[in-house]
Amino acid sequence: MDLYEYQGKQYFARFGIPTSPGGVADTVEEAVAQADAAAYPVVVKAQVKVGGRGKAGGIKLAADAEEARRHAEAILGMDIKGHTVHRLWVEHASDIAREYYASFTLDRPNKLHLGMLSAEGGVEIEEVAATNPGAIARLHVDPVKGLDLAAARRWVAEAELDQEARPQAAELLVKLYTCYVEGDCDLAEINPLILTTEGRVHALDAKVTLDDNAAFRHPEWEEYAATETEDPREKMAKEKGLNYIGLDGSVGIIANGAGLAMSTLDVVNQVGGRAANFLDIGGGANADVMAAALEVINADPAVRSILVNIFGGITRVDEVANGVVAALERVEIRSPIVLRLDGTNAEAGRRILAPRLSDRLVAEPTMLDAARRAVALAG
Ligand code: GDP
Ligand code: MN
Repeated sequence: MDLYEYQGKQYFARFGIPTSPGGVADTVEEAVAQADAAAYPVVVKAQVKVGGRGKAGGIKLAADAEEARRHAEAILGMDIKGHTVHRLWVEHASDIAREYYASFTLDRPNKLHLGMLSAEGGVEIEEVAATNPGAIARLHVDPVKGLDLAAARRWVAEAELDQEARPQAAELLVKLYTCYVEGDCDLAEINPLILTTEGRVHALDAKVTLDDNAAFRHPEWEEYAATETEDPREKMAKEKGLNYIGLDGSVGIIANGAGLAMSTLDVVNQVGGRAANFLDIGGGANADVMAAALEVINADPAVRSILVNIFGGITRVDEVANGVVAALERVEIRSPIVLRLDGTNAEAGRRILAPRLSDRLVAEPTMLDAARRAVALAG
Protein backbone atom coordinates (compact mmCIF):
# COMPACT_ATOMS: atom_id res chain seq x y z
CA MET A 1 0.00 0.00 0.00
CA ASP A 2 1.31 3.41 -1.00
CA LEU A 3 0.81 6.29 1.42
CA TYR A 4 -0.04 9.87 0.60
CA GLU A 5 2.72 12.36 1.37
CA TYR A 6 0.95 13.60 4.51
CA GLN A 7 0.55 10.04 5.78
CA GLY A 8 4.18 9.32 4.99
CA LYS A 9 5.21 12.38 6.96
CA GLN A 10 3.03 11.31 9.89
CA TYR A 11 4.67 7.89 9.68
CA PHE A 12 8.13 9.49 9.61
CA ALA A 13 7.24 11.57 12.68
CA ARG A 14 6.61 8.38 14.68
CA PHE A 15 10.27 7.50 14.13
CA GLY A 16 11.55 10.97 14.93
CA ILE A 17 12.30 12.01 11.35
CA PRO A 18 11.94 15.81 11.18
CA THR A 19 9.40 17.39 8.80
CA SER A 20 7.77 20.83 8.55
CA PRO A 21 4.71 21.65 10.66
CA GLY A 22 1.47 21.48 8.68
CA GLY A 23 -1.97 19.97 8.29
CA VAL A 24 -4.43 18.47 5.80
CA ALA A 25 -7.30 20.30 4.14
CA ASP A 26 -10.17 19.06 1.98
CA THR A 27 -11.66 22.50 1.28
CA VAL A 28 -10.35 25.97 0.48
CA GLU A 29 -11.48 27.26 3.90
CA GLU A 30 -9.65 24.46 5.69
CA ALA A 31 -6.56 25.17 3.62
CA VAL A 32 -6.54 28.83 4.67
CA ALA A 33 -7.02 27.83 8.31
CA GLN A 34 -4.11 25.35 8.08
CA ALA A 35 -1.97 28.01 6.40
CA ASP A 36 -2.73 30.48 9.20
CA ALA A 37 -1.81 27.81 11.76
CA ALA A 38 1.43 26.82 10.01
CA ALA A 39 2.51 30.51 9.72
CA TYR A 40 3.42 32.19 6.42
CA PRO A 41 5.02 31.63 4.01
CA VAL A 42 3.42 28.24 3.39
CA VAL A 43 3.47 25.63 0.67
CA VAL A 44 0.18 24.19 -0.62
CA LYS A 45 0.65 20.61 -1.83
CA ALA A 46 -1.68 18.36 -3.84
CA GLN A 47 -2.11 14.94 -2.20
CA VAL A 48 -2.08 12.36 -4.97
CA LYS A 49 -0.15 9.12 -5.13
CA VAL A 50 2.04 10.08 -8.07
CA GLY A 51 5.39 11.82 -8.28
CA GLY A 52 6.21 14.99 -10.18
CA ARG A 53 3.45 17.02 -8.54
CA GLY A 54 5.68 20.07 -8.50
CA LYS A 55 6.15 20.06 -12.29
CA ALA A 56 2.42 19.45 -12.78
CA GLY A 57 1.56 22.62 -10.86
CA GLY A 58 0.31 20.80 -7.77
CA ILE A 59 2.77 22.47 -5.37
CA LYS A 60 2.69 26.23 -4.78
CA LEU A 61 4.23 28.65 -2.33
CA ALA A 62 2.00 31.27 -0.71
CA ALA A 63 3.17 34.40 1.13
CA ASP A 64 -0.18 35.24 2.72
CA ALA A 65 -3.76 34.02 3.27
CA GLU A 66 -5.04 35.54 0.04
CA GLU A 67 -2.40 33.68 -1.99
CA ALA A 68 -2.96 30.44 -0.06
CA ARG A 69 -6.66 30.68 -0.90
CA ARG A 70 -5.93 31.21 -4.59
CA HIS A 71 -3.57 28.20 -4.75
CA ALA A 72 -5.95 25.97 -2.80
CA GLU A 73 -8.76 26.87 -5.21
CA ALA A 74 -6.56 26.08 -8.20
CA ILE A 75 -5.13 22.81 -6.88
CA LEU A 76 -8.27 21.21 -5.36
CA GLY A 77 -9.98 19.31 -8.18
CA MET A 78 -6.89 19.51 -10.39
CA ASP A 79 -6.01 16.42 -12.43
CA ILE A 80 -2.45 15.20 -12.01
CA LYS A 81 -1.56 12.28 -14.29
CA GLY A 82 -5.12 10.93 -14.08
CA HIS A 83 -5.46 11.47 -10.32
CA THR A 84 -7.96 14.06 -9.10
CA VAL A 85 -6.82 16.13 -6.13
CA HIS A 86 -9.30 15.86 -3.23
CA ARG A 87 -6.96 16.72 -0.40
CA LEU A 88 -4.17 19.21 0.28
CA TRP A 89 -1.26 19.26 2.67
CA VAL A 90 -0.37 22.77 3.80
CA GLU A 91 2.92 23.26 5.62
CA HIS A 92 5.21 26.05 6.67
CA ALA A 93 7.51 26.76 3.72
CA SER A 94 11.18 25.99 4.09
CA ASP A 95 14.04 28.12 2.86
CA ILE A 96 15.99 25.60 0.82
CA ALA A 97 19.78 25.77 0.63
CA ARG A 98 20.35 22.28 -0.80
CA GLU A 99 18.18 19.39 -2.00
CA TYR A 100 19.33 15.78 -1.43
CA TYR A 101 17.85 12.36 -2.05
CA ALA A 102 17.60 9.46 0.42
CA SER A 103 15.81 6.12 0.32
CA PHE A 104 15.74 2.56 1.59
CA THR A 105 14.35 -0.36 -0.32
CA LEU A 106 14.97 -4.07 -0.66
CA ASP A 107 17.68 -5.41 -2.94
CA ARG A 108 16.07 -8.79 -3.62
CA PRO A 109 18.83 -10.49 -5.66
CA ASN A 110 21.40 -9.64 -2.97
CA LYS A 111 19.04 -10.34 -0.03
CA LEU A 112 20.08 -7.05 1.56
CA HIS A 113 18.53 -3.70 2.27
CA LEU A 114 19.66 -0.99 -0.11
CA GLY A 115 20.09 2.61 0.87
CA MET A 116 20.53 5.27 -1.79
CA LEU A 117 21.83 8.71 -0.98
CA SER A 118 22.65 11.59 -3.28
CA ALA A 119 23.61 15.22 -3.03
CA GLU A 120 21.64 15.71 -6.24
CA GLY A 121 18.07 15.59 -4.94
CA GLY A 122 14.87 17.32 -5.96
CA VAL A 123 14.90 15.71 -9.41
CA GLU A 124 13.77 12.16 -10.14
CA ILE A 125 16.37 9.66 -8.99
CA GLU A 126 15.99 7.69 -12.25
CA GLU A 127 17.22 10.83 -14.01
CA VAL A 128 20.25 11.10 -11.71
CA ALA A 129 20.94 7.39 -12.21
CA ALA A 130 20.87 7.86 -15.98
CA THR A 131 22.82 11.10 -16.32
CA ASN A 132 25.17 11.04 -13.33
CA PRO A 133 25.26 7.56 -11.74
CA GLY A 134 28.36 8.44 -9.72
CA ALA A 135 26.27 10.96 -7.77
CA ILE A 136 24.35 8.16 -6.01
CA ALA A 137 26.06 6.56 -3.00
CA ARG A 138 24.64 3.06 -2.55
CA LEU A 139 24.84 1.37 0.81
CA HIS A 140 23.94 -2.28 1.35
CA VAL A 141 22.74 -2.99 4.86
CA ASP A 142 22.76 -6.48 6.30
CA PRO A 143 19.32 -6.87 7.93
CA VAL A 144 20.87 -8.82 10.82
CA LYS A 145 23.46 -6.13 11.62
CA GLY A 146 21.35 -3.06 10.87
CA LEU A 147 22.63 0.47 10.29
CA ASP A 148 24.60 2.25 13.01
CA LEU A 149 25.54 5.90 13.27
CA ALA A 150 29.19 5.28 12.37
CA ALA A 151 28.22 3.65 9.07
CA ALA A 152 25.70 6.43 8.38
CA ARG A 153 28.47 9.01 8.96
CA ARG A 154 30.75 7.33 6.44
CA TRP A 155 27.82 7.18 4.03
CA VAL A 156 26.96 10.91 4.14
CA ALA A 157 30.65 11.68 3.54
CA GLU A 158 30.80 9.28 0.61
CA ALA A 159 27.69 10.93 -0.89
CA GLU A 160 29.44 14.28 -0.46
CA LEU A 161 26.59 15.99 1.32
CA ASP A 162 27.55 19.48 2.45
CA GLN A 163 29.73 19.37 5.57
CA GLU A 164 27.26 21.24 7.76
CA ALA A 165 24.44 18.84 6.80
CA ARG A 166 26.34 15.63 7.54
CA PRO A 167 25.84 15.14 11.30
CA GLN A 168 22.05 15.75 11.12
CA ALA A 169 21.72 13.75 7.91
CA ALA A 170 23.52 10.75 9.44
CA GLU A 171 21.16 10.75 12.42
CA LEU A 172 18.15 11.15 10.16
CA LEU A 173 19.25 8.24 7.97
CA VAL A 174 19.51 5.92 10.97
CA LYS A 175 15.93 6.92 11.85
CA LEU A 176 14.81 6.41 8.26
CA TYR A 177 16.33 2.92 8.33
CA THR A 178 14.48 2.16 11.58
CA CYS A 179 11.26 3.43 10.03
CA TYR A 180 11.85 1.27 6.97
CA VAL A 181 12.56 -1.90 8.98
CA GLU A 182 10.38 -1.58 12.10
CA GLY A 183 7.70 0.25 10.16
CA ASP A 184 7.60 -2.62 7.61
CA CYS A 185 8.09 -0.47 4.52
CA ASP A 186 8.89 -1.76 1.05
CA LEU A 187 10.11 1.74 0.27
CA ALA A 188 10.91 4.77 2.42
CA GLU A 189 12.02 7.65 0.22
CA ILE A 190 12.73 11.32 0.89
CA ASN A 191 13.09 13.49 -2.20
CA PRO A 192 14.06 16.14 -1.49
CA LEU A 193 15.77 15.81 1.84
CA ILE A 194 16.80 19.40 2.43
CA LEU A 195 19.36 21.53 4.14
CA THR A 196 17.66 24.83 5.02
CA THR A 197 19.36 28.21 4.95
CA GLU A 198 19.21 28.07 8.79
CA GLY A 199 21.25 24.85 8.66
CA ARG A 200 18.49 22.36 9.51
CA VAL A 201 18.14 19.02 7.73
CA HIS A 202 14.63 17.67 7.23
CA ALA A 203 12.26 15.77 4.95
CA LEU A 204 10.40 17.99 2.49
CA ASP A 205 8.60 15.10 0.79
CA ALA A 206 7.72 11.53 1.83
CA LYS A 207 7.14 8.50 -0.33
CA VAL A 208 6.29 5.42 1.71
CA THR A 209 5.14 2.03 0.48
CA LEU A 210 4.00 -0.30 3.25
CA ASP A 211 4.48 -4.05 2.96
CA ASP A 212 0.88 -5.35 2.93
CA ASN A 213 2.08 -8.75 4.16
CA ALA A 214 2.96 -7.11 7.49
CA ALA A 215 -0.49 -5.55 7.96
CA PHE A 216 -1.37 -8.14 10.63
CA ARG A 217 1.08 -6.56 13.07
CA HIS A 218 0.03 -2.98 12.31
CA PRO A 219 -3.54 -2.33 13.40
CA GLU A 220 -2.77 1.38 12.95
CA TRP A 221 -2.58 0.86 9.18
CA GLU A 222 -6.39 0.55 9.05
CA GLU A 223 -6.46 4.33 8.91
CA TYR A 224 -4.36 4.31 5.74
CA ALA A 225 -6.37 1.50 4.17
CA ALA A 226 -9.52 3.57 4.69
CA THR A 227 -8.18 6.34 2.44
CA GLU A 228 -7.08 3.95 -0.29
CA THR A 229 -8.92 4.30 -3.56
CA GLU A 230 -9.14 0.64 -4.35
CA ASP A 231 -9.56 -0.83 -7.82
CA PRO A 232 -13.34 -1.51 -7.94
CA ARG A 233 -12.66 -4.96 -9.43
CA GLU A 234 -10.31 -5.85 -6.58
CA LYS A 235 -12.81 -4.55 -4.06
CA MET A 236 -15.55 -6.78 -5.52
CA ALA A 237 -13.18 -9.77 -5.59
CA LYS A 238 -12.14 -9.20 -1.98
CA GLU A 239 -15.80 -9.13 -0.90
CA LYS A 240 -16.25 -12.49 -2.61
CA GLY A 241 -13.13 -13.90 -0.98
CA LEU A 242 -11.24 -14.39 -4.24
CA ASN A 243 -7.49 -14.16 -4.88
CA TYR A 244 -7.69 -11.52 -7.60
CA ILE A 245 -5.34 -8.87 -8.94
CA GLY A 246 -6.55 -6.46 -11.61
CA LEU A 247 -4.34 -5.98 -14.69
CA ASP A 248 -4.89 -3.89 -17.81
CA GLY A 249 -5.36 -6.41 -20.64
CA SER A 250 -8.48 -7.85 -22.28
CA VAL A 251 -8.28 -11.60 -21.55
CA GLY A 252 -9.96 -12.52 -18.26
CA ILE A 253 -8.13 -15.35 -16.48
CA ILE A 254 -9.45 -18.03 -14.13
CA ALA A 255 -7.07 -20.76 -12.99
CA ASN A 256 -6.73 -23.07 -10.02
CA GLY A 257 -3.53 -22.55 -8.09
CA ALA A 258 -1.35 -19.45 -8.07
CA GLY A 259 1.41 -21.14 -10.07
CA LEU A 260 -0.94 -22.19 -12.84
CA ALA A 261 -2.58 -18.74 -12.85
CA MET A 262 0.83 -17.08 -13.31
CA SER A 263 1.82 -19.54 -16.04
CA THR A 264 -1.46 -18.75 -17.76
CA LEU A 265 -0.60 -15.04 -17.75
CA ASP A 266 2.79 -15.87 -19.25
CA VAL A 267 1.30 -18.03 -22.00
CA VAL A 268 -1.29 -15.37 -22.87
CA ASN A 269 1.57 -12.87 -23.15
CA GLN A 270 3.65 -15.28 -25.19
CA VAL A 271 0.92 -15.59 -27.83
CA GLY A 272 0.53 -11.84 -28.09
CA GLY A 273 -2.33 -11.16 -25.69
CA ARG A 274 -2.65 -9.31 -22.41
CA ALA A 275 -4.36 -10.57 -19.30
CA ALA A 276 -7.08 -8.51 -17.64
CA ASN A 277 -6.37 -10.06 -14.28
CA PHE A 278 -4.78 -12.73 -12.14
CA LEU A 279 -7.35 -14.98 -10.47
CA ASP A 280 -6.58 -18.14 -8.52
CA ILE A 281 -9.76 -19.97 -7.52
CA GLY A 282 -7.73 -22.34 -5.38
CA GLY A 283 -8.61 -25.92 -4.60
CA GLY A 284 -12.33 -25.87 -3.90
CA ALA A 285 -13.42 -24.75 -7.35
CA ASN A 286 -17.12 -25.44 -6.84
CA ALA A 287 -20.10 -23.73 -8.48
CA ASP A 288 -20.15 -20.87 -5.96
CA VAL A 289 -16.49 -20.03 -6.42
CA MET A 290 -16.70 -20.37 -10.21
CA ALA A 291 -19.81 -18.16 -10.34
CA ALA A 292 -18.11 -15.55 -8.14
CA ALA A 293 -15.01 -15.62 -10.34
CA LEU A 294 -17.03 -15.24 -13.54
CA GLU A 295 -19.05 -12.40 -12.02
CA VAL A 296 -15.95 -10.44 -11.07
CA ILE A 297 -14.36 -10.90 -14.50
CA ASN A 298 -17.66 -10.13 -16.22
CA ALA A 299 -17.86 -6.80 -14.38
CA ASP A 300 -14.57 -5.65 -15.94
CA PRO A 301 -15.51 -3.64 -19.06
CA ALA A 302 -12.07 -4.23 -20.62
CA VAL A 303 -12.55 -8.02 -20.79
CA ARG A 304 -13.19 -9.38 -24.32
CA SER A 305 -12.70 -13.11 -23.69
CA ILE A 306 -12.30 -15.38 -20.67
CA LEU A 307 -9.76 -18.16 -20.35
CA VAL A 308 -10.56 -20.84 -17.77
CA ASN A 309 -7.48 -22.98 -17.17
CA ILE A 310 -8.00 -25.84 -14.74
CA PHE A 311 -5.65 -28.65 -13.98
CA GLY A 312 -7.36 -31.16 -11.73
CA GLY A 313 -5.15 -32.44 -8.96
CA ILE A 314 -7.01 -32.75 -5.72
CA THR A 315 -9.69 -30.66 -7.41
CA ARG A 316 -11.70 -32.97 -9.67
CA VAL A 317 -12.39 -31.64 -13.15
CA ASP A 318 -15.97 -33.03 -13.21
CA GLU A 319 -16.74 -30.89 -10.15
CA VAL A 320 -15.24 -27.87 -11.86
CA ALA A 321 -17.31 -28.63 -14.98
CA ASN A 322 -20.46 -28.75 -12.85
CA GLY A 323 -19.37 -25.48 -11.33
CA VAL A 324 -19.00 -23.88 -14.75
CA VAL A 325 -22.44 -25.15 -15.82
CA ALA A 326 -24.11 -23.88 -12.63
CA ALA A 327 -22.27 -20.55 -12.87
CA LEU A 328 -23.39 -20.04 -16.47
CA GLU A 329 -26.99 -20.51 -15.37
CA ARG A 330 -26.56 -17.84 -12.73
CA VAL A 331 -24.44 -15.24 -14.50
CA GLU A 332 -25.10 -13.63 -17.88
CA ILE A 333 -21.58 -13.61 -19.35
CA ARG A 334 -20.73 -10.91 -21.90
CA SER A 335 -17.59 -12.50 -23.31
CA PRO A 336 -16.85 -15.85 -24.95
CA ILE A 337 -15.25 -18.42 -22.64
CA VAL A 338 -12.40 -20.74 -23.59
CA LEU A 339 -11.94 -23.81 -21.39
CA ARG A 340 -8.88 -25.92 -20.88
CA LEU A 341 -9.67 -28.72 -18.48
CA ASP A 342 -7.15 -31.41 -17.72
CA GLY A 343 -6.08 -33.71 -14.90
CA THR A 344 -8.14 -35.78 -12.47
CA ASN A 345 -11.49 -36.81 -14.01
CA ALA A 346 -10.91 -34.65 -17.07
CA GLU A 347 -12.88 -37.01 -19.32
CA ALA A 348 -15.92 -36.88 -17.06
CA GLY A 349 -15.63 -33.12 -16.95
CA ARG A 350 -15.52 -32.81 -20.72
CA ARG A 351 -18.62 -35.04 -21.04
CA ILE A 352 -20.54 -32.73 -18.71
CA LEU A 353 -19.62 -29.70 -20.78
CA ALA A 354 -19.93 -31.26 -24.26
CA PRO A 355 -23.65 -30.47 -24.75
CA ARG A 356 -23.05 -26.86 -23.69
CA LEU A 357 -20.25 -26.06 -26.10
CA SER A 358 -20.93 -23.34 -28.66
CA ASP A 359 -19.10 -20.40 -30.19
CA ARG A 360 -19.56 -18.69 -26.78
CA LEU A 361 -18.16 -21.65 -24.82
CA VAL A 362 -15.17 -23.29 -26.46
CA ALA A 363 -12.97 -26.14 -25.27
CA GLU A 364 -9.31 -26.53 -26.23
CA PRO A 365 -7.06 -29.49 -25.46
CA THR A 366 -3.96 -27.64 -24.22
CA MET A 367 -3.06 -24.48 -22.35
CA LEU A 368 -1.30 -23.08 -25.42
CA ASP A 369 -4.26 -23.77 -27.73
CA ALA A 370 -6.63 -22.27 -25.19
CA ALA A 371 -4.49 -19.15 -24.81
CA ARG A 372 -4.27 -18.72 -28.60
CA ARG A 373 -8.04 -19.06 -28.93
CA ALA A 374 -8.77 -16.66 -26.08
CA VAL A 375 -6.36 -14.07 -27.47
CA ALA A 376 -7.89 -14.40 -30.96
CA LEU A 377 -11.38 -13.98 -29.51
CA ALA A 378 -10.26 -10.89 -27.56
CA GLY A 379 -9.26 -9.36 -30.91
P1 GDP B 1 6.96 16.11 -6.01
O1 GDP B 1 7.16 17.05 -7.18
O2 GDP B 1 5.69 15.35 -6.17
O3 GDP B 1 8.12 15.22 -5.79
O4 GDP B 1 6.77 17.03 -4.71
P2 GDP B 1 7.83 17.60 -3.64
O5 GDP B 1 7.17 17.59 -2.33
O6 GDP B 1 9.12 16.87 -3.74
O7 GDP B 1 8.05 19.09 -4.10
C1 GDP B 1 8.57 19.42 -5.36
C2 GDP B 1 9.46 20.64 -5.26
O8 GDP B 1 8.73 21.74 -4.74
C3 GDP B 1 10.62 20.47 -4.32
O9 GDP B 1 11.71 19.80 -4.91
C4 GDP B 1 10.93 21.90 -3.97
O10 GDP B 1 11.78 22.46 -4.96
C5 GDP B 1 9.59 22.60 -4.02
N1 GDP B 1 9.11 22.78 -2.63
C6 GDP B 1 8.36 21.95 -1.90
N2 GDP B 1 8.20 22.41 -0.65
C7 GDP B 1 8.88 23.57 -0.59
C8 GDP B 1 9.15 24.52 0.46
O11 GDP B 1 8.72 24.39 1.61
N3 GDP B 1 9.89 25.61 0.12
C9 GDP B 1 10.41 25.79 -1.12
N4 GDP B 1 11.14 26.86 -1.36
N5 GDP B 1 10.20 24.92 -2.12
C10 GDP B 1 9.46 23.82 -1.85
MN1 MN C 1 9.36 14.80 -4.25
